[in-house]
Amino acid sequence: MKLENIKIVMVGTTHPGNIGAAARAMLNMCIANLTLVDPQCPVGQVAYSRASGANLVLDQRETVADLPAAVADCSCVIATSARRRSLAWPELEPQEMAGKILQMDDASRVALVFGREHSGLTNDEMQLCNYMVCIPTNPEFSSLNVASAIQLLCYEIYRQQSIMPVARAPDLDDQPATSAELEGYFEHLQRVLEQSGFLDPQQPGLIMQRLRRLYLRNEMTRNEINILRGMLTAVQKQRD
Ligand code: SAH
Repeated sequence: MKLENIKIVMVGTTHPGNIGAAARAMLNMCIANLTLVDPQCPVGQVAYSRASGANLVLDQRETVADLPAAVADCSCVIATSARRRSLAWPELEPQEMAGKILQMDDASRVALVFGREHSGLTNDEMQLCNYMVCIPTNPEFSSLNVASAIQLLCYEIYRQQSIMPVARAPDLDDQPATSAELEGYFEHLQRVLEQSGFLDPQQPGLIMQRLRRLYLRNEMTRNEINILRGMLTAVQKQRD
């Protein structure tokens, strides 16, 4: 996988200095695609000054309204968090994360998602992610500055890339499914589960979250999604 297929996604960032510091950290490690989701501050002089010359990352940044839009074209979405969640998400060590990304073929796109300075990522945002990475830190003081977290993970990718130069050839017959395709499948699945009476919309519990986790950890391909949606459509037709 080429480094240009990786995007760094910052969600709801409140401090422009952190956006500038992130741009600098990224460009030091040859990663240049930055997407801002609903930024809570202007990207102006403070950000450019902290970027210390990494202007191209800021100039080329993409800004979108929400996380689904930021990761729609990605086949692997990796959340970062300083803390573990109540419904455990498949976790990767930073080294494993970098190895996994670099082994993907050049047709894949990957997003590394970073949360708000004060509150991190919401549980709904975590639900869009295939994996979670937690950088090991002092358990009594585990939360890194967001740009420092970006620096450490980009460094790990850059370091491993220099010792793992050969990328896999893309499988043109069966590409990895993108986040947008998976979301389309989850909506379809939920509809059928509700129509069949399996899922009570008034009391859904954690069923959809658990099902998402099951599917997301399997890195599904486009053909597999098409088969699953075909099955759901067949069930719907029979009901009608
Ligand atoms: N109080 C927040 C901390 C947010 S720190 C919380 O509990 O989630 C801002 C962001 O920096 C986090 O959302 C995450 O993207 C990143 N970050 C901070 N510390 C990290 C760590 N130890 N491992 C991975 N990412 C971390």
